This record gives sequence, structure tokens and C-alpha cells, in this order.
Amino acid sequence: MYFGSVRFFKHLIFAVLIVIIIVPIFLSIFFATRLKNVEKKQAPIIIKSKTNDEIAKDLTIDDYCELFSKGNFTIEQLLNSLNSTGNDISDTLFKKHFSVESKDLDYQKKYPDLYTKAPTQFSVKEKTIYLSFDDGPSSNTRQILDILDKYNIKATFFVVGNESEQGKELLREIVKRGHTIGIHSYCHNYNIIYQSVDAYLDDFYRDYNYVLNATGVKPQIFRFPGGSVNSYNQTIYKQIIAEMCRRGFVYYDWNISGEDASPTATWTSIYNNIIKATKNASRGLILLHDGPDKGTTVTVVEDLIKELIKSGYTFDKLTNDVKPIIFGYID
Ligand code: ZN
Repeated sequence: MYFGSVRFFKHLIFAVLIVIIIVPIFLSIFFATRLKNVEKKQAPIIIKSKTNDEIAKDLTIDDYCELFSKGNFTIEQLLNSLNSTGNDISDTLFKKHFSVESKDLDYQKKYPDLYTKAPTQFSVKEKTIYLSFDDGPSSNTRQILDILDKYNIKATFFVVGNESEQGKELLREIVKRGHTIGIHSYCHNYNIIYQSVDAYLDDFYRDYNYVLNATGVKPQIFRFPGGSVNSYNQTIYKQIIAEMCRRGFVYYDWNISGEDASPTATWTSIYNNIIKATKNASRGLILLHDGPDKGTTVTVVEDLIKELIKSGYTFDKLTNDVKPIIFGYID
């Protein structure tokens, strides 16, 4: 009798081993290979200068980032490629990557004063931390400014509309103390600003003028509310990025988050989130918030700074020539 025999149990054990060991290994290899192939299928990017000289072609996003960081071509050359008219490669590139016509878009004619000079190249500083604070100015901003002063650290504030005298005064303080102001959003209502590219531009322009009128400074960098790619802007984020890039603005997401926007955030959770994430980071763009309800964040900032200094990091503010850390490249 085979069933119930020693041979039967041997075979049974083999069968079970195959199912619990070999099948998962096989599946892992299969999916890992597939993932690798998906990564390889990044759309090529071709960069041409204004005189149509080919600077680089068939780049993957990784090659592109690498060349960009080495200064092999400038953002202006990229913008020229995106910007130039006629049936050239840049027009194709633009359509391919943004699925929109590169010219005669009504929103491109809006706000002719909403342009800035794009950087000629990006730089990368190793072992550097960029602290960034979103959703201010608020009463919490001043305390953060004082802590930053104490350690002689410069940071970046992506601001929202706060027309109170205190709000405008804080914007001036941010500038006076040598930090960078970036645009976040005037109304910070995702349902409004991500309705269309027009709606995004309207809100951006309002925030831009709010900062300009209060400080005399024209912001050159910005951060999307919710990050550059979020569930509210899926259908239009590429068009917004293209339009803001065309206007010379550089945007920054983050690679380290304190997760302090969460209502359950505590001193410990914010501190640990950041320290853990900076462990092996060569440079860190840290997302924190200085909105009116972010008192907990204020209590963490000084300890974070102390610990990160101890780990050998230096701090800097973002300027538009710092190589962006972003979620949604123009792939
Ligand atoms: Zn925000």
C-alpha cells in the first residue's frame, strides 16, 4: 500500500517543502525580475539646445538626474527645449511627457509677471540637512526662528496666506533672519487649487503677491500642498509642473517627513521619524510644519538640531540651485 507507507510520507514531506520553500522563492524571483523590467522602461528624455544641438539623448530618468547634478546641461537648456516652437523634438517631448500642446495654452498667457530666472545648474551638497516648514506663518513661526538663530541655522518656509499684521510681520522676520521663503499655497484647499492648472496658477499667484507685497522678495521655489503627486492632482500634476517649470520656478518635495501633520503626532513620533530616516541619508530635505496647531513640532526642533549636528550634518536653506528632491519627475 502506497498511502500510509513510509514512502508516501516522504513524498508528502517533499511536496509540503516544495510548496512552502521553493514556490515563494520562485515567485519572488519572478516578480523581482518583472519590477526590474518596469524600472528599465522609463521613457527616454532628449535634451536639445536652442540651436538644436543634441546635448543628450535617450536618457532614463536616472541618467537625467545624474547628468543634471553634474551640470552637463542646464535647466535653461531643458526649458528652451520645452519652450521652443515649431515641429522640433522639444515639441514632441513636451506632448509625449505632458500630453498637452506646448503652445497656445490659455493659462500660459496668464500673469505675465509670474516668471523667475531658472538656475543655470543644480548643486548637491553631501551630508546636508534642509529643514523646511510648511503652512506658516503662525505664532509658532517666531519660536522656530529663535531656535534656528540660536544654532545659526538657515531653513526654508513654504508659506500660506495669512493676511494678519502678525502674519506679514513674520514673513519679514523670515527674510530678515536670512531664511528662504517658498510658495506653498494661498488658500491651501486641495479641492480648489487642484481643480485645474488655471486654479493652481490663480492660487499660486495670490500667494506670490502676498509674499512680494509683505517682503519685497519674489519667491523662486515652491512646494505643492500634499506633495507634487497626490490623490487630488493625478490628472493635472504634469501640466502644473510643466507650466511652473516653464515659468522658471523650481519645486521641492521631501525625502524625510516628521509626519507632524498627523493629529496623533507626538514629540517622540516626530523625533524618531526624522532621526531614523536620516541614519543613512547623504542629504535630507525634512518636512515639518509651523501652522498654528503645530506646537508639538516647535518642541522637537531644538533636540532634532542637536542630534543631527552630533551626527555630523550641516544645515542649509533651499535656494533654486539646490538639486530638487521630488516625487514626480517628468517621466
Ligand atoms: Zn501644507
